[in-house]
Amino acid sequence: MIEIVDKSKCCGCEACRSICPKKCISMQADKEGFLYPKVDLSQCVGCKLCEKVCPVLNPKYSKREPLVYAGINNDINIRLQSSSGGIFTLIAEQVIQKKGVVFGACFDEQWNVVHDYTETKEGLARFRGSKYVQSYIGDSFLQAKRFLDEGRFVLFSGTPCQIAGLKNFLRKPYQNLLTVDLVCHGVPSQKVWQKHLYELVSDAYNIKKRNLSFFFADKINSISFRSKENGWKNFSMSIFYKNENKRVIPFYNDTYMNVFLLNLSLRPCCYTCPTKLHYIQSDISLADFWGVDRLSSEIDDDKGCGLVLVNNEHVISLLKSLDCQLYEQRLNDVVKYNMNIHYSVKKPINRKFFYMILDKTNLAFAYKVSTSSAILMRIIRKIYRVL
Ligand SMILES: Cc1cc2nc3c(=O)[nH]c(=O)nc-3n(C[C@H](O)[C@H](O)[C@H](O)COP(=O)(O)OP(=O)(O)OC[C@H]3O[C@@H](n4cnc5c(N)ncnc54)[C@H](O)[C@@H]3O)c2cc1C
Ligand code: SF4
Ligand code: SF4
Ligand code: SF4
Repeated sequence: MIEIVDKSKCCGCEACRSICPKKCISMQADKEGFLYPKVDLSQCVGCKLCEKVCPVLNPKYSKREPLVYAGINNDINIRLQSSSGGIFTLIAEQVIQKKGVVFGACFDEQWNVVHDYTETKEGLARFRGSKYVQSYIGDSFLQAKRFLDEGRFVLFSGTPCQIAGLKNFLRKPYQNLLTVDLVCHGVPSQKVWQKHLYELVSDAYNIKKRNLSFFFADKINSISFRSKENGWKNFSMSIFYKNENKRVIPFYNDTYMNVFLLNLSLRPCCYTCPTKLHYIQSDISLADFWGVDRLSSEIDDDKGCGLVLVNNEHVISLLKSLDCQLYEQRLNDVVKYNMNIHYSVKKPINRKFFYMILDKTNLAFAYKVSTSSAILMRIIRKIYRVL
């Protein structure tokens, strides 16, 4: 039976909850807002299926190196709506054309990030664009299995740990399954995200920030973490409100993105990610082609260029049939500008402090206090080293 003793050993993929034949595992949020499995011991029959499917307990190693391409969707509108080169939409459209089903991460009515599926081309719009929040998997593993068993073609997209969880949950290979993941920086919790949104909407509507009781979800029209209004490299977080106000802030001036990129808000497991290169289980991994201006400047128009890492050579023919430009790259070159392909990010010394403060105050204050405390901690450490 699964038991979480060390939180850094659970990526929250929900494979254990999805497989349990007694339905006695529930996912419960901790103080930071991350979900962890909890077993109802009175119902558990000790079958250990939950342990068998866990991708952290059972990582799968692969020696193969991916083939790497720069990828650019020929449809400029789709590319501008996507985070990088818009290759995800092209792959998904192929699956829809074959009357398949596509799973991905989208917003629900409360602007939580959740996994869902679509069977239409129009439905893909919800999945487009990165959402820097850990998505709730819900019943999507079970739904995907049902479609696969019916013989439908399924594309499942998500973070590498979600794909590893899905593959373990399925427990056998399916010829009709295609999996796409992302080179992953890590994921903040929904709690941090909701807190940030609440603060932004209160400001936009001049509402006093006394408690979290006012309903803000219906005041937002759309959100993009990766708006290209000021360019792809200089991407912005954009929010369009129902009162026609809008907020488009470059990532380096946005508190949520600063906290994310400084690694303060990530899930404990992300600092020792169990699914970095060589433990990747997907057919294709997508990423931003950071460094394209140095490595292949002739294809860089600052409207977005993706990296496509092909982990399963069987998908090359599918890739080559897409309406896009593909340019071969060398893994060693691109890794220099995108270390997250190989390595987990570092856990900052002030992470615990950040979450502690966040519980009592707002995101902007928690960010300010914890970053200045980090400077103080570094100075104290230096003084101790000198003494
Ligand atoms: C949490 C996160 C961290 C990332 N970290 C990096 C990084 O460090 N370096 C890098 O180069 N690229 C990173 N990416 C990937 C990058 O931002 C683009 O998603 C990728 O290049 C694909 O872009 P696209 O233009 O082809 O498609 P897009 O339309 O931009 O991508 C949509 C795809 O992203 C999936 N997706 C969106 N949000 C989530 C989520 N919260 N959880 C699971 N799946 C999601 C959708 O299901 C869909 O498959 C990250 C993405 C996410 C979601
Ligand atoms: S051991 Fe079996 S019954 Fe018990 S929690 Fe795990 S999967 Fe469920
Ligand atoms: S990593 Fe996934 S399968 Fe393993 S305990 Fe956590 S939620 Fe369950
Ligand atoms: S960094 Fe690793 S553990 Fe964290 S969300 Fe991404 S794939 Fe999962």
